[in-house]
Amino acid sequence: MQNLLDLDADGLTAWFAEQGEKPFRARQVLRWMHRSGVADFDAMTDIAKSLRDKLKARAVVAPPTVVSDKLSDDGTRKFLIDVGNGNAVETVFIPEDERGTLCISTQAGCALDCAFCSTGKQGFNRNLTVAEIIGQLWQANRALGAVHGDERVISNVVMMGMGEPLANYDNTVAALRLMLDDNAYGLSRRRVTVSTSGLVPAIDRLREECPVALAVSLHAPNDALRDQLVPINQKYPLRELMAACRRYLEKAPRDFITFEYTMMAGINDSDAHARELLALVRDVPCKFNLIPFNPFPGSPFRRSPAERVRRFGEILIQGGIVTTTRKTRGDDIDAACGQLAGQVKDKTRRTAGGVIPIQESRS
Ligand code: SAH
Ligand code: SF4
Repeated sequence: MQNLLDLDADGLTAWFAEQGEKPFRARQVLRWMHRSGVADFDAMTDIAKSLRDKLKARAVVAPPTVVSDKLSDDGTRKFLIDVGNGNAVETVFIPEDERGTLCISTQAGCALDCAFCSTGKQGFNRNLTVAEIIGQLWQANRALGAVHGDERVISNVVMMGMGEPLANYDNTVAALRLMLDDNAYGLSRRRVTVSTSGLVPAIDRLREECPVALAVSLHAPNDALRDQLVPINQKYPLRELMAACRRYLEKAPRDFITFEYTMMAGINDSDAHARELLALVRDVPCKFNLIPFNPFPGSPFRRSPAERVRRFGEILIQGGIVTTTRKTRGDDIDAACGQLAGQVKDKTRRTAGGVIPIQESRS
């Protein structure tokens, strides 16, 4: 059985051709699945019964299952998505005045092991399939009641949940193509953001194959510190990363890179660090997004005090860089940045590979 949610538009057209069906049929089914949120072939009313029967025999529309749905006091909503074997990943909807942003996961766990990241501390379990990545948007649209009217509840998607999107490149790009496809979600490239810890060759590939908005997790102004906080820096050091950012901007839908910078007290938050950053990014049009560190059980770091974050941001702004500080959202339901791991009561009882054992998650 083929899960049709695993295919982007080209993949679906090719699969329909293999079944002896025309491309416009693939397009119709694509619209039913993604624009109307329909999983039942019998509800696809403009498709001939003979084709519906054929589809039922050979395919399914199988989104991943939502195992819990929690609403934060500030309106943030967190979905726990089953990825099999009793494990789950997280998807977070963040409503704001002018937009609604869905933060989605691309891997169960993450192999890159950044020092301050709860997901990284779990280790790597596996890549999510296309159906599991796009299925987060599918399920959130449905839960938010967005599939029937024209109203677009989810206006932006950020790949800033669990996992490193560019380490699951093929599935991430297929899911991105569906997000951008007018017969599916029809989001503009500017409103879809990939966040990466800095996989340089994959940044170059994305620029050629599917340039969407890019956020790069910087977290340190020099290699000595970044080697410790973001270990992938040992393979792709800052000079190479900055060059990749400059190349990306030639094709990017926005004329800046967003640098994310998690602020940890006494680690990377001094005035000197801010000035060093200004020198580092001198040739890269960018904006900064400062993220006060979100603690999780067992982490050795502390959040920088608000006054320190303010002063750090001020130095960047005085240096001519647009800088925002991310408001902590959803932390009462453990949905804030870097807390996406679910919180297990007893770490030692985690499954071998990492991700969240559903039974133990109190998320
Ligand atoms: N793997 C990708 C995307 C997921 S992480 C990446 O690293 O960019 C999304 C953002 O949250 C990244 O900038 C990440 O560094 C940051 N983050 C991770 N742990 C955090 C924590 N405990 N507190 C605050 N931000 C954190
Ligand atoms: Fe992976 Fe991103 Fe966490 Fe680093 S910050 S461990 S790349 S999810």
